[in-house]
This record gives sequence, structure tokens and C-alpha cells, in this order.
Amino acid sequence: MFDLNSELSARRDAGLYRTRLHAESAQGARIRYDGKDYLSFCSNDYLGLAGHTDLRGVLCDAARDWGVGAGASHLLGGHSQPHEELEIALARFIGTERALLFSTGYMANLGVLAGLTGRGDRIIQDKLNHASLIDGGQLSRAKVSRYPHVDHAAVSHMLGEGFSGKQIVASDGVFSMDGDIAPVTELLAACREHGVLCYIDDAHGMGVIGESGRGSLEACGVDPGVEENRPHLLVMGTLGKAFGNFGAFVAGSEAWIETLIQQARTYVYTTALPPAQAAVSLAALDIVQRESWRREHLAQLVCRFQSGCKERGIRMMPSNTPIQPVVIGDKQRAMEIAHQLKSQGLLVFAIRQPTVPAGTERLRITFSAAHELGDIDQLLDALQEAGL
Ligand SMILES: *Cc1c(COP(=O)(O)O)cnc(C)c1O
Repeated sequence: MFDLNSELSARRDAGLYRTRLHAESAQGARIRYDGKDYLSFCSNDYLGLAGHTDLRGVLCDAARDWGVGAGASHLLGGHSQPHEELEIALARFIGTERALLFSTGYMANLGVLAGLTGRGDRIIQDKLNHASLIDGGQLSRAKVSRYPHVDHAAVSHMLGEGFSGKQIVASDGVFSMDGDIAPVTELLAACREHGVLCYIDDAHGMGVIGESGRGSLEACGVDPGVEENRPHLLVMGTLGKAFGNFGAFVAGSEAWIETLIQQARTYVYTTALPPAQAAVSLAALDIVQRESWRREHLAQLVCRFQSGCKERGIRMMPSNTPIQPVVIGDKQRAMEIAHQLKSQGLLVFAIRQPTVPAGTERLRITFSAAHELGDIDQLLDALQEAGL
């Protein structure tokens, strides 16, 4: 039998209980939760687009034209003109032949890994990969091998052992809890050499890093469109983070995308994104491409934070992205500091296991183009006051 109450209280006693806040305003650097105003450092709305005025207008207009829901799955009549236009624009942006929309990044990862591999195949994963990649690996029934974080030499070694089935090397592009960037160039080179697929989940890189916002691939100087990469590379981007909206896509060659349409069950057996949402993402993509000041401003904020940490002796992690975790190393202490910041009107979450390994409990601090330099100073002062 389930003994829910005792399991819940055991979880509470272990300091691992999860709760939710209730937002009473739109997402932004300043946001109201449960009757109190906060300066927020916890969203993934990196470019500040979730509450963008023009995008709100696009959503209203598109809803007037296309209704509120897709009404069907993509393959059974739910694929509409806004979806098609968005896929074409995303493929052009990334530089691949095709792109395919999924309802969420989580579903894209399940669909790709379980759709392309099965029993007798192997998925090689970074130890710190996102939960959705780990879950996709399990769903696939393929053998899963994990390598030490960003250790591309270990990947080469694993591939060099030889394997009879199909193989995929899967990695976050920007690691969600650490903020560092995967060695994409080296991973892809190893995959090319051994004739396997390199799958990059760029949920936190897309729109955010790379000169024109094309993410980890661009930041690492990888062109996914060139012939030698095409058979060996798929990249996933979510539309729920830097794009400020909802949904996700996978970009790659014609053959990969057509294969996913046939085989990715999280694509086939689910309702298509609302077409109005696709229209919003198309408009967001335009902002991502045109307004490079958002990325430049983010870089300035990161720079300010890092130099402020240095001055104050706050230990940073090796990240140059807008994910700037501060490791506390103790769950109780991490929770206390987050609580103290919250009472001062600064919202930062303490991240505990199983999201991060025990002993590396941290404050996950993220910046958005909607922040101002003064916001960073306020956070730094509060961190210092909290004894960091
Ligand atoms: C957020 C996230 C996802 C899931 O994307 P959603 O669109 O929110 O489902 C996948 N991978 C990583 C690394 C993420 O951070």
C-alpha cells in the first residue's frame, strides 16, 4: 500500500520537500508572488521576452485568426500554417535543412532518444545531463553509459571500444545547473569519426549564446549545415526559455527530421502546439535575431556579477553564461540563505538533490536581459550579507 503521509513527512524531514509560489504578475525581472514584490533571479526568461508587450499583441492577433488550440495532432490534421512557417524559419536560423516542432523540450528529448534507439543500441550521456535526457534514455530501452562531466576523451574512448548497435552521444549544450558549455566541437568530431549521432540539448544556449543567438553550436564554431556534420548532428532548442514562450524544436537534416516524424512517439501521439503559440515564437525568433543588444546586455550583467563576486570573495563556478550558480554544499544552509534573500525581496532558489548531487547544493542564480546593472549589485550585497 501507499503510505503517502509518512513518505511525505520523511521527505519533509530530509529537507527535500518541494513547494510552489503563486505568481500574481507576468514573468519579468520584477514579479509579484503571494502578495509580495520580488526582484527575481530564478527564471529562464533570459532575453526578457515572456512578458514582452509586442508578443502579447501577436498572441492576441494570432488567437483571433487561428483560435486557441490546434485541435489535433500534427499528423492527423493539427499541423497549420504558423507551425510550418515557424519550422522553416527555425531551420533557416540554425542553418539546417529542417526543423520539427515538439510540444516541450522534455518531450523532444524523449522522442529523439526513444524514437531513434531501442534494445541493443546505446546512448552515451554526460553525467550532468538534464533529467529529460536521462528519462529518454530509460524509455528507449537502449543501454545507457554515462561519462564524467564534459570529458570528451572518455566519449572517444567509449566509442573506440566498438559497439554493434546504433549509438547516440547526448549532451546538454549549456548545463542547466552549472552554466558551463559542453565541448561540442570535440563531441561532434568523435561522433563523426565513429559514425554515430551527436545530440545537443541546447535548452539554455539557444537564443542566449553565440554571436547571433544560435546557441552552443555557434559559440563553439560548429556549422550544423555542412555536409560532413549533417549525418551526425541533431540540436534541440526550447521555445519556453530565451524565446519567452512555450514549445520546442529539433533541427537537423531532411533525413533525420523525416525519421523523427515517423518514429518519435512524443511527436506522433500528442496534440500539436496551439498555432497562435507558434505565431508568437516566430515573432520571438525575429527579436532574438534582430535585438542582439539583449545578449550584449546579458554579457554585461554576467561580467558585473563575476567581478563583484571576485571583489567580495564569493566563490563562483566556471560559467560565462547567464546561469551563475553559487555552490553552498549543504542543503540546510542553501535553504536558509535562499530564505534570507527572499525576506529581503530577492528571489533565488536553492537547488538540492536529486536535481544536483548531494554536497553540491547551490543557489541557482540566473540573469535576464530585463535586469539592470544595479539589480546585480543589490544581489551581490545581499549574498555578502548572508555570509558568502
Ligand atoms: C528546460 C530544459 C528542458 C525541457 O524543456 P521544456 O521545453 O521546458 O520542456 C530540456 N533540457 C534542458 C537542459 C532544460 O533545461
